[in-house]
Amino acid sequence: MNVDIFVNGKLEKWIRQIEEWKDIFEARAIENDRDATFPFQNFNDLKNHGFFQLTVPKKYGGEEVSLYEFLLIQEYLGEADGATALSLGWHNGIVMKIREDQSWNENAYESICLEIVKQGVLMNSCATEPASGSPARGGKPQTVATKVGSDYIINGHKTFTSLAPILDYFIVTATIEDSGEVGEFLIPREKEGLSIKPTWDTLSMRATRSDDLLLENVRVSSEALVSIRKNSKEKKPQGWLLHIPACYLGIAKAARNVAVDFAKEYTPGSLRHPISEIPEVRRKVALMDIEIKKARHMMYHVAKLWDEKPELRSQLGDELASVKHVVTNSAVEIVDIAMRLVGGQSLHRSFPLERLYRDVRAGLHNPPADDLTYMMIGNRAFEENN
Ligand SMILES: Cc1cc2nc3c(=O)[nH]c(=O)nc-3n(C[C@H](O)[C@H](O)[C@H](O)COP(=O)(O)OP(=O)(O)OC[C@H]3O[C@@H](n4cnc5c(N)ncnc54)[C@H](O)[C@@H]3O)c2cc1C
Repeated sequence: MNVDIFVNGKLEKWIRQIEEWKDIFEARAIENDRDATFPFQNFNDLKNHGFFQLTVPKKYGGEEVSLYEFLLIQEYLGEADGATALSLGWHNGIVMKIREDQSWNENAYESICLEIVKQGVLMNSCATEPASGSPARGGKPQTVATKVGSDYIINGHKTFTSLAPILDYFIVTATIEDSGEVGEFLIPREKEGLSIKPTWDTLSMRATRSDDLLLENVRVSSEALVSIRKNSKEKKPQGWLLHIPACYLGIAKAARNVAVDFAKEYTPGSLRHPISEIPEVRRKVALMDIEIKKARHMMYHVAKLWDEKPELRSQLGDELASVKHVVTNSAVEIVDIAMRLVGGQSLHRSFPLERLYRDVRAGLHNPPADDLTYMMIGNRAFEENN
């Protein structure tokens, strides 16, 4: 393994494991992308090596990694397979979110954490809908929870449910009919009335199987209501969401490495040496490496602030959104440069850059989208107390 100045001692074991899997994950990624199949084998490996419990608190038997550590693991996984990294990132990110903002009743959190550690269960948030769009934009869910006695009956339709084929628990946002509040309901996969509609046939991140979730008269007890969504003024900045840019940075690093390896080998008829000796090729490699450094330094600096100065977290909203913006756009730019360096061969489906180019685009549509970040930061400049 090359020396990585960002990897600390505690992380070495995890990073070494991912490096060991790299070739096999890359090989599986080709098939899973082609067939839009979920990377079950990767998840089996990840489960057996404790990756499902990375963010579970130590008191419940987990690893309780910090945000900084979580992001580095995401970045390395993203380099091996973006779809695997993004999918696992949702599960670990949500466990971290609840750990940090204590938004669930502690008994419910303890119980799910113990299931994660002992049985390797997976969960994800199902918050996006065809009608109300991205939850990051503040729309109220059209999925409705109706109180009947002490139970709730839930009806609705969710889109973009990453990990759909393998989830044990779905965290479903729904508008509670009598109060108008938005609740999060923890629903086990086997509940009657819950089904998956395999709609995920996309350009990017095909192996995440972010299918539709249908809820038809799903009856749950009141204990399934694990939290009530805060209104926008009470909402706290969410560090865990940086698992998204970390994953796309990994994809970009993979593209950079493909381009560098290509440049070392490719010797066209017009030259007596590989194209790596051409100054313009080196300039392109430098541009990619500078983008990677820019993105990493910014992301890990903010992650350290988050970890080491919890008292500043409420002020880090702009920083987190800026990291998402800078890192995902850098990642798109890096893959673009890698393809320009390689040239026309990069367009072949048999060449890894073609998939990396498609996958990296998805980052632009994960939250927060750039337009939301511009609005938030732009508005801040004109707030009264600024
Ligand atoms: C690979 C991948 C995996 C995902 N996994 C999950 C998951 O596991 N769980 C989950 O819940 N979600 C998931 N998502 C969904 C994601 O979080 C977004 O909800 C989704 O991509 C839709 O975002 P959007 O901004 O395009 O949505 P929309 O809200 O539909 O917006 C579409 C467009 O309309 C415009 N627009 C809409 N509303 C406004 C507004 N109020 N003001 C200004 N402009 C507006 C903007 O131009 C925007 O680009 C995933 C997405 C991707 C790409």
